[in-house]
Amino acid sequence: MEHFDLSGRVAIVTGGNGGIGLGMARGLARAGAAIVVAARNADKSAAAVKALEALGAKAIAVAVDVTREASCRRLVEEAAERLGRLDILVNNAGIALRKPPQDYSVEEWHRVVDVNLTGAFVCAQAAYPHLVRAGGGKIINIGSMLSIFGAPFAVAYAASKGGLVQMTKALATAWAKDNIQVNALLPGWIDTDLTAAAREQVPGLNETVLKRTPAARWGRPADFEAIAVFLAGPGSAFVTGTAIPVDGGFSVQI
Ligand code: NDP
Repeated sequence: MEHFDLSGRVAIVTGGNGGIGLGMARGLARAGAAIVVAARNADKSAAAVKALEALGAKAIAVAVDVTREASCRRLVEEAAERLGRLDILVNNAGIALRKPPQDYSVEEWHRVVDVNLTGAFVCAQAAYPHLVRAGGGKIINIGSMLSIFGAPFAVAYAASKGGLVQMTKALATAWAKDNIQVNALLPGWIDTDLTAAAREQVPGLNETVLKRTPAARWGRPADFEAIAVFLAGPGSAFVTGTAIPVDGGFSVQI
């Protein structure tokens, strides 16, 4: 169906070599987009490229560290040069650092904010002229339940993910006239490498997630395939500045 057809489109997915990023990349690939897997770990990225090619998609890996401005700008230029254009940017790279706020060093604060928020801004800014040249485009930012809730162990993560939602709104208003739609997705608890570490560190987390989530299960990277296609496709042309929970009902239950 044409609303969801991404044939001929080129998408960058930061952190696209695993977890939620690869889930979204699979969806975009299945809808016809060529994918740029953008992350640091070259082995993981090569495996992700193979998985996407197995779906019949064109895919390449470009190394990026989103904490480095020059690296973000190089990523965007290389993607557009090698694949001929850029239509879709998914800002998904993210890290978490579990610590009470009083124990955070400023360096640790910056480490989290630089990946989750500043990296997304720089990639969006670098992508902008290419999206304009393509006649419009799509930016999807990956927030969190901590975009809307607080938690005692996640001060920098919550600040960065809350900021990402506000940045989404600001970019949406600035670039709507360029036919660029900017939206955010807010994942609930999703079974990935990121949460595997938390599951090890936090006793009882698995049981808490199952009890607290109305759908009574962890989310899966595959739960992000279709929503990514919707937000990246022509059918969402009048949807911009939103933050959509993908959380099995976590954010609507007291
Ligand atoms: P993963 O740890 O599997 O994915 C994180 C990705 O970010 C990896 O691909 C990693 O690749 C990449 N990355 C980290 N740092 C950098 C960097 N400096 N430059 C470029 N890439 C980087 O976790 P998830 O799939 O769970 O997380 C994806 C997104 O979803 C994150 O933004 C996370 O905050 C968010 N999220 C996840 C939730 C969950 O329950 N899993 C809940 C809410 C939000 P590499 O190491 O190769 O660079």
